[in-house]
Amino acid sequence: MSVRPYSMAPCEILELLEAGYQKLADSDSKSLLKKHLTKPIFDKLKTKVTPSYCSTLLDCIQSGLCNLDSNVGIYAPDPEAYQTFAEIFDPIINDYHKGFGKGAKHPASCFGYGADFPDLDPEQKFILSTRVRCGRSIQDFPFNPCLSEDDYRKLECMITNVLSTLCNEHAGKYYPLVGMEKDVQQKLIDKHYLFKEGDRFLQAANASRFWPTGRGIFINRARTFLVWVNEEDHIRIISMERGGDLGRVYERMIIGLESLAHSLKFSSDSRLGNLTFCPTNLGTTIRASVHIKLPHLGKDRAKLEEMAKKHNLQVRGTSGEHTEAKDGVYDISNSRRMGLTEYQAVGEMHKGISALIEAECKECCKK
Ligand code: ADP
Ligand code: MG
Repeated sequence: MSVRPYSMAPCEILELLEAGYQKLADSDSKSLLKKHLTKPIFDKLKTKVTPSYCSTLLDCIQSGLCNLDSNVGIYAPDPEAYQTFAEIFDPIINDYHKGFGKGAKHPASCFGYGADFPDLDPEQKFILSTRVRCGRSIQDFPFNPCLSEDDYRKLECMITNVLSTLCNEHAGKYYPLVGMEKDVQQKLIDKHYLFKEGDRFLQAANASRFWPTGRGIFINRARTFLVWVNEEDHIRIISMERGGDLGRVYERMIIGLESLAHSLKFSSDSRLGNLTFCPTNLGTTIRASVHIKLPHLGKDRAKLEEMAKKHNLQVRGTSGEHTEAKDGVYDISNSRRMGLTEYQAVGEMHKGISALIEAECKECCKK
C-alpha cells in the first residue's frame, strides 16, 4: 500500500509538473502526450492522486516529459490511474488504437484458431522469424513504479512457481537476472530472447527500480516459448520461431497463456480489457510481429512506414522498439490491440504482412 498518504499532489510535485508541462508545450515533441495534454486537462488533473497508491499525474507522464522523443509518453503507475486520469488516458487510447471512444468497451476475449493463419512466407524469401506476445498483470499488485523490492520478489516467486508446472512443449527453466553472467545476458538479448537493459523510457517512468531484483526469463527446451518476468509488465508471454508460420506460433502462445491462467489471477477492467503498464498494450495486449526483409520497400523507411500504417501495422528496428533496422531487417507488427479480439488483431497483422509481401513482389517485377 501507499507510502505517500496524501489526498492531493503536494507542492513539490506541482512545481515539477508545471515546469515539465511548460517544457513539453514549448517543444516540437510529436508524442501523443503533447498532442492531447491541453492546458485545461493538465490543470484539471495536476492535483489528483489515485485512491490506493497516491500516484500523481507526474508518475504517469514523467517519461514523456523527460523523453520528448517519446511516441506516446504516458504510463499507468497503478491500475486505478486509468480512471483517475481518464481525461488524458482516454484520448490517447482512442488515438493509438484508432477508435476507442468514451463509450467503447473492449470485446470479450476470443482467440480463435491459429490454423486460420497460414504460413506467411512458405518459400522463406522474406520472413526470418515470427513472434507473438501478450502481457498480463497480476491482480492486487500495482505496476512497476509502485512496486516495492519485496513485491518484485513476491511476484517472481508466484510466477515462477507456476512456470515450473508447465509441461510438454512449454516445459522449461527460469533464469533470474540476479546472478546471470553478463555475457550470457548479452547473448540472450542479441538472439532476441531477452529484454534489453537500461531502456530510458522505462527508467524515466520509474519502471526499473531495484533492477535486477525479481526480473528474469523462462525458456522452454526448444527456445520457442519464453516468459519475461517483471520487465515492463509483470508477465510477458512470448512464442517465437524461425520462418513465417504465424498460426503455429500463435497457437503455442495461447496454450502457454491458458496454462498460466489456471493458477494466476490477472488484472482486467470491464471497459479496457486486460490491464497493462502502457496504454498501447491494453485490451488484447497482443503484438504479433515478423522480422522481415523487404529490399525494395525497405529502401525508404518513411515510405515503408506510410504503407504499413495503411494496414494498421507498426515498423520497428531489428532489436525492437526505439532501435534501428540492421541489414534491412524490420520488425513489423499489428499496432492496434484494443477494441478488437485477439483473433482480429492477429488477423489484421496476417492480412497486412501478406499485402506488404505482395507489394514487395510487384516492386521487384518492375525492375
Ligand atoms: P515487445 O513489444 O514485445 O516488448 P520490443 O520491441 O521491446 O517488443 O522487442 C523485444 C525483443 O523482441 C527484441 O529483441 C526484438 O528484436 C524481438 N523481436 C520482436 N519481434 C521479433 C520477431 N518477429 N523475431 C525475432 N525477434 C523479435
Ligand atoms: Mg518492449
